[in-house]
Order: sequence, then C-alpha cells, then structure tokens
Amino acid sequence: MVMTDSAEMLRFCRDWHGDVTSSAVAVLRPRSTEDVAAAVRACRALGLSIVPQGGNTGLVLGSIPDRPESQVVLSLERMNAIRNIDADDFSAVIEAGCILSELKDRIAEKDMYFPLALGAQGSCHIGGNVSTNAGGINVLRYGMTRELVLGLEVVLPDGTIFNGLSTLRKDNRGIDLKQLFIGAEGTLGIITAVSIKLMPFPDQVATALLGLNSLDDAIKLYRRARRDCCDLMSAFEFMPPLAFVLAREAIPDLSMPIAGDYPAYVLMEISGSGLVDIADLMERFLGGVMEDGLVVDGVIAASQAQARNLWLFREGMNEGQAKRGPHMRTDISVPLYLLADFVRDAEQAVSEALPDCISVSYGHVGDGNVHLNVLPPCNSSPDEAAAKIYKAKTVVNQVLDGYNGSISAEHGIGRLKRADFEERLDPSRRAVLTALKQAIDPSMVMNPGCQLNFPGIS
Ligand SMILES: Cc1cc2nc3c(=O)[nH]c(=O)nc-3n(C[C@H](O)[C@H](O)[C@H](O)COP(=O)(O)OP(=O)(O)OC[C@H]3O[C@@H](n4cnc5c(N)ncnc54)[C@H](O)[C@@H]3O)c2cc1C
Repeated sequence: MVMTDSAEMLRFCRDWHGDVTSSAVAVLRPRSTEDVAAAVRACRALGLSIVPQGGNTGLVLGSIPDRPESQVVLSLERMNAIRNIDADDFSAVIEAGCILSELKDRIAEKDMYFPLALGAQGSCHIGGNVSTNAGGINVLRYGMTRELVLGLEVVLPDGTIFNGLSTLRKDNRGIDLKQLFIGAEGTLGIITAVSIKLMPFPDQVATALLGLNSLDDAIKLYRRARRDCCDLMSAFEFMPPLAFVLAREAIPDLSMPIAGDYPAYVLMEISGSGLVDIADLMERFLGGVMEDGLVVDGVIAASQAQARNLWLFREGMNEGQAKRGPHMRTDISVPLYLLADFVRDAEQAVSEALPDCISVSYGHVGDGNVHLNVLPPCNSSPDEAAAKIYKAKTVVNQVLDGYNGSISAEHGIGRLKRADFEERLDPSRRAVLTALKQAIDPSMVMNPGCQLNFPGIS
C-alpha cells in the first residue's frame, strides 16, 4: 500500500501534460474505505498533508504535490469495485477509483447509460470527476457531474467516514451536504464511493459535421437545434478551420469530411432510445437550417466508423496543439449571448499584443464554454514561450473580466489557477470558503495549496 521509491512514484507526481514533475513523501494506494480512513489518521498524526489522486488527468495541477517534503499522494486506483447497478432504479453505487470508460461499458452491458463523456475518460476516475465537477461534451443535455450524483461516501480530514451513499432522488432533509465535496478538488475530504444516476442507453445516435459562416451563426443554430430537436441534442462542439490542420498534424491519415472551407464548423450529435426516429429528425432539421442559409454545408455520418472519424477531428486538435509545443490553454465561460463578441474581442486583443502567436477558440459552445488557446511560434525557446503564454493569459483574462465570465468553466482551480481565482474572489465568498475549511479541515490536512491559500488556519 505504501510506495516511497522515487522512480515508482514518478507517474503519480507528474502532471498529464508532463509540464510539471514533483515528488512526495510517499504514495499510498489503499484498497478500502477503512484503509483510507486509517491513512488519513496516520498522516494527521505525522503532520503530513494529503493530495488525493484519481486518474491524474486534471489540467490544473490539483492532483500532484507542490510541497514534496510534507505531502503524500493518496491514489484511489485500487478502489475500483462496482458495488451495485440497479436497472429498475437507474442507479449505481461505485468506488471512487473506477475508470470512467470502464464504468460506462459495465453500465452499457445492462442497457443503461452514464452520460459523462470527456476526452480523458479512458484514464480519469469517477472520484476525480466528482471532485472536479467535470463537464465534457454532454453537459448541454445531462448537466455537469454534480447533476449526475445521488450520494457520496467521504473520508473526512479527521479520519471519520461520512456515509451519504443514498440513491434517493428526492430527499429534502435539510442541507444537501454532498454538494460540499463536489468540485472541492480534494480540499475537504477524500471521496471513496459515489452513487450515480443512470439513463436508458441511447441506441440511436446521429452525428453531423456542419460548415457555417460564423460563430454567431453557430450560436443561432444551437438555439434552433434545442427547439427543433426536442431537446435530444447531446453534443454541440464548435471548431475553427484550424482544427482540421491541427488534427491532421496529430493524425495525418484523417480523411477530410467536407470538401469546402468554411469560417466555422459545428460537430453536432442528437441521440435517443425507444420509439423516436433520430436519423429522420437529424435529416429534417438539417434540411430546414440549410434551406434557411444558417448551415452552408454538412455531412451526416453514415456509420459508427464515420461518426468516430468526425470526432477524431475534435479530439485530434488537442493533440495537434500539444505537438506544437507549450501553449496557453484556457477554459472560459461567458453567457451564451455574449460568446461570439467575447471570442472576437479576446482574439483581437491577443493579435495586437502578440502578433506572432495564433489564437484557436473551440469547445462546448452550447454551454457558453470556450477553450481560447494561444499558440506561440513553434521555434520559440522555452523562456520565450513561457513569456508569451503569461502575456496571453493576462490579455485574455482582462477581456474576460469585462464580460463577467469564469476563468474555469469545467477544469477547476487546482494550483495552476489559484492566483487568478484569488485575485477575482469576492470577499463574502472568501469568508464563506474560509469558514468551511476552518470547520471541516482546521489542520489543513487536505490538499493544501489547491484552490485557495488559507492563511491563519493552523
Ligand atoms: C485529453 C483530456 C480531455 C479532457 N476533457 C475534459 C472535459 O471535456 N471536461 C472536463 O471537465 N475536464 C476535462 N479534462 C480534465 C480532467 O480529465 C477532469 O478534470 C477529470 O474529472 C479529472 O479526473 P481524474 O480522476 O483524472 O482526477 P485527478 O486529476 O486525479 O484529480 C483532479 C482533482 O480532484 C482531486 N481528487 C481526485 N480524486 C479524488 C477523490 N477520490 N477524492 C477527493 N479528491 C479527489 C485531486 O486532488 C485533484 O484536485 C480533460 C483532460 C484531458 C487530459
């Protein structure tokens, strides 16, 4: 259960991008909730603090230590049992270390569906998803992780076990305490098990890639699709033309799905089960929006393989950016009606401040969530790239502040965004957060340095 060899600990101490490598006093890998509770009590007694870790796919440095001399990593990877799947109740109780894609496969075997879907699903854990309140491509239909959680089991910072693993959908007995731990990024306790909501398996899925004249048109299309497609839309991803270039730099043999070049693209999916005819719905919807000129060109995937090919453009563009070297990544949200203006203003500000850099804006636009990334020239030295990334972040955040947006739509705060978060924190919110931390973790055992620094708590 305890690992102290630095070579063995490396994979637990390096972030997903490989940008930051740290170390730890030890890595603990408990097998049960009782083991976790014992580990917490031992760390407390030794004056060590704990960085909980799931699949270590987080993008904000919340899951790796920043004070290696006094922190242990507690990995949930050995706690991956499915305790129960209830097909009548459409619910399941699972341990925190279940890998998301494996969990989805086990649930699909029972003709049900867990709709959380993100690029890291082959590695991330459900406990990490809950701790970051992960989003992903299906939020517009099913909500963030928070909306999929029915109950939690959590080991608290004093080593006691909070048993809130209910599967009740309606339970108004006072304050809903599980919400405290969702999105807390391991700062209030260690989630050891989760009860989740399930859905009927959507056995009909229609996927289309559409060429449009602008991001403004993409937003108009989104509004119309929600109404015309009976709210059966499960994904609506915006991509710029550069997406195709980047994706093909990462996956060279990807075949181009649309012949012409368009200023904006949307990857859209509608899905359902039972008596509804999804293919017909997609065809009729696209017929209407093309006739009205909102969509200029489009292709509907004729098979699962073709649908997969379309999704590879969306997924491959991340890899393509990584191949071009270090770059500035954001995870921003603004109200949907302001999104196109925000992207225009922010890209303009970046091109004025950093004329040799490239902005690339894409993402879960239906949720008002855009990843506006900035790529320094490929031949930049590490120092030059770092300086440009810092400047780009400052410029984009300044524009964002004018739109009252969020610097973290779905990835959390971790250690990477702590300073930007603290700078913008309303005093009343800081006071509530400090009071909570003081009440639940006065000794600062849980993930210190993540989300907020809490001076004054011993
Ligand atoms: C290719 C790629 C695509 C991604 N796409 C998306 C996306 O679309 N949407 C999105 O929201 N995110 C996305 N992410 C980010 C990341 O996958 C999510 O934040 C995910 O929820 C993290 O889960 P994890 O198990 O890897 O957690 P980790 O990275 O291990 O941990 C994340 C945080 O949660 C805490 N934590 C982990 N497990 C526990 C636990 N059991 N109890 C208490 N605290 C815990 C950690 O201390 C840390 O602060 C993506 C990442 C990658 C690499």
